[in-house]
Amino acid sequence: MIATGSINCPKCGHAQEERLDCRKCGVVFSKYYALHPPGRLDIAGVAEESSVKKPSEPDQATVISDLQQQVRELSARFAEIEFEKAERSQLRTDLKNLDRRLQDMLDRMALQLEQFESGLRSRLPRRQSTNRVFICLRSLND
Ligand SMILES: [Zn+2]
Repeated sequence: MIATGSINCPKCGHAQEERLDCRKCGVVFSKYYALHPPGRLDIAGVAEESSVKKPSEPDQATVISDLQQQVRELSARFAEIEFEKAERSQLRTDLKNLDRRLQDMLDRMALQLEQFESGLRSRLPRRQSTNRVFICLRSLND
């Protein structure tokens, strides 16, 4: 009788003769079957699982794709900002270099001008230079 009339507890799976409640876990089968219709138990379990998963799966996918989109946008913006920053710092460096070179040139020119002026003053006194101009003018007239 036990073998033919035996059932497995729908909750814990304990094999036992047909009775109203589980000998092992004490669940009342009728109550359990009311909550979990027999025969559809496995399907219901799967359906339940999948029905839990199904709404959450697209949600998760949506959330993930939203996040990915946000990450992509953020990283694109970040790259733009980085590029602008790099461009700006490059420009700043270029400007600094140009400024430094210009300053160097000005310093050198000022120094050369100073040397030239002092050279002129020492080597070419005013009278001599004017004499030369007179010589040049005379040679033109001749
Ligand atoms: Zn049981």
